[in-house]
Amino acid sequence: MDPRHAILFEPVTIGPKTLRNRFYQVPHASGFGTVKPRTQAAFRAIKAEGGWGGVCVEYAPVSRDCDEVPAVAANVWDDADARALALTVDAVHAHGALVGLELYHGGASSLNGESRSVRVAPTQLASEMRFASLAKEMTVDDIAQVRKDWVEAAKRGRDVGFDIVYVYGAHGYLFSQFMSPVTNRRTDGYGGSAANRGRIWLETLEAVRAEIGGDCAVATRICVYGRDELPGIEIEETLELVKMADDLVDLWDLTVGSWPEDSGTSRYYPEGHQRPWTHRIREATEKPIVAVGRYSSPDLMAEVVKSGAVDMIGAARQAIADPFLPQKIAEGRLDEIRECTGSNMCILREESFNHLGCVQNATAGEEFRRGWHPELFTRAANADQSVLIVGAGPAGMECAVVLGKRGFSAVHLVEAEAEIGGRMRWTRRLPTLGDWGRVTDWRAVQLDKLPGIEVITGRRLSAADILDYGAEIVVIATGSTWRGDGVQPGQVGRISGADAGLPNVLTPEQVGAGKRPAGRNVIVYDTDGYYVAPGVAELLAGEGFEVTVVTSYPVLSPVSDHTLEGDFLRAHVHQQGVRVQRGITITGIELDSVRGQDEYGDPWSASCDGVVLVTQQASNNGLYAELTGDDAALARAGIRAVHVIGDAVAPRIISEAVFDGHRLAREIDQPDPDRPVPYRRETPDLRPLEDRPGLPDLRASQDAVPG
Ligand code: ADP
Repeated sequence: MDPRHAILFEPVTIGPKTLRNRFYQVPHASGFGTVKPRTQAAFRAIKAEGGWGGVCVEYAPVSRDCDEVPAVAANVWDDADARALALTVDAVHAHGALVGLELYHGGASSLNGESRSVRVAPTQLASEMRFASLAKEMTVDDIAQVRKDWVEAAKRGRDVGFDIVYVYGAHGYLFSQFMSPVTNRRTDGYGGSAANRGRIWLETLEAVRAEIGGDCAVATRICVYGRDELPGIEIEETLELVKMADDLVDLWDLTVGSWPEDSGTSRYYPEGHQRPWTHRIREATEKPIVAVGRYSSPDLMAEVVKSGAVDMIGAARQAIADPFLPQKIAEGRLDEIRECTGSNMCILREESFNHLGCVQNATAGEEFRRGWHPELFTRAANADQSVLIVGAGPAGMECAVVLGKRGFSAVHLVEAEAEIGGRMRWTRRLPTLGDWGRVTDWRAVQLDKLPGIEVITGRRLSAADILDYGAEIVVIATGSTWRGDGVQPGQVGRISGADAGLPNVLTPEQVGAGKRPAGRNVIVYDTDGYYVAPGVAELLAGEGFEVTVVTSYPVLSPVSDHTLEGDFLRAHVHQQGVRVQRGITITGIELDSVRGQDEYGDPWSASCDGVVLVTQQASNNGLYAELTGDDAALARAGIRAVHVIGDAVAPRIISEAVFDGHRLAREIDQPDPDRPVPYRRETPDLRPLEDRPGLPDLRASQDAVPG
């Protein structure tokens, strides 16, 4: 280990517990909750195995009065929930880490989609988060009930072995709603002064500590004022509250501003951007502090700890990207750290109710159901066969790395262009998107290290070249290309006049390769809805073009709202001088103008010197079709199998192309590698109620209901 990093491996005492080092996976959503307890346990345990000293599960509603359906949370409503979470406790303990439970009440921002319980709030005020549905103003009895529920949930957590139990006061949930004078307009003892607004949180901390304090470390998560602050939460008041609560707290877990700022993406926030705010808290406490910062640099982590402002390095996204980060730092294997790209594609997946995904770590969330381990690979039964991978984009690179780790000794990764990376080649050069290049950088280092892999660039292979190549297994990873003909979602025909061969019609890839329109006035037409159109627009605006993004959607880049970037992206685009027109469908392109219709179906037109079409991609699957269309030629060439992965199958977000490449390599020695091996599912418990321990006998009470 580099001695400069030794400080990161010092133990830290938190109340009655001791963390073995300063690496702490803070609570974060996974989509597994108590619905997929085995998936949850394996997902958290892998971090303990990789060396994290503390590992937490996600937000855990304390009672049925607060449910998160259709989102998935780790409920602690009853003993059955606690038993489900006990799997995680045991799995994390098996690797020597402490395990934390983030008890939670959402207040006005709960969803209550399942229970139909009325949401509760300090004051009955309309919320921007939940339209046309207000919460009930809490009575003093309601407040006492929350406190009681919290204590009961804390006891359940303690009883199944959690080491750290949270009183969650951040991220705009119930206790933050009380702390903010914007959402708390009460005139009783729970409103008004900072002490009154903090009272519900302080009383809950007190009650939880009284019950479980000797057994568990009591943690609290609070929001510190940031650049994009929670309304009304000011740093001076926060310091006051920290001093008031300090005797009740063993661990301070800090967040900054709203969630989009706290989990800020690399496009708009650098590593450690929270420091100016979180580092103020030391003024008010000597207790251990953990704060996040999307830290991937061990030097910066050590510097932050040395400053004395925090005791532990908190991580959510970096712990997903590399569960083995602590072990790699301990062993000095710094070039093997999978650095988080800060793209928030994990959040995009999870928040849109998809199984978790990560662009850097394809095994995230697959530990239980597919049995994948980020660092362990079995030797493939067919590892002695030679493999040709055509195309070195995210899918091809990932496939090659995993084949190399599975013992293949003759893998050629052949790329047409001079550089590997596929779409990342031009994406990483768009304004704000530089850190996404880590997708290529990490894989480039691994490809270089693996003896069985040869990377060949600047060679575009035809079907005949592939047949002549001499490989026994061929993997087509040729990606996709943006269409230049204006085919777009929701329209039967193409855009008339759209032809990327004309000087005034461009695709994003052509822009990435240096093509520019003749005049200064450019329209970027977006029906894709994610990062490409804003990125191209900012690139051109930075070069002095007059740029308008015309989008068919009601907002620019709706996908970015799911990565928490929407507001920042729109503000940034605006600051770069890019104009935006929403709700427009373009149907025709002339030499000096475009035309179409607005959201009401009325005709619309605008003059321009050139149009960049960000409408739709098409898979580059010609090679695959050609090869698989001639079995006899394959047999003559000695090719036993041809597979296709990534965008060449269907254009998708980067995490899915990486997953595709990884999966094929993991399963390349299965009888039919093109069909994923069925993954293990956590199915509902269908045992008769009487055979399920701990459940109340519902039949007795049902019998008592007349009629
Ligand atoms: P994915 O995301 O599925 O990995 P990309 O589009 O990012 O797809 O990358 C595909 C890569 O394949 C690109 O770098 C492209 O240059 C390369 N490629 C496409 N066709 C060929 C070919 N015939 N020979 C070699 N490389 C190719």
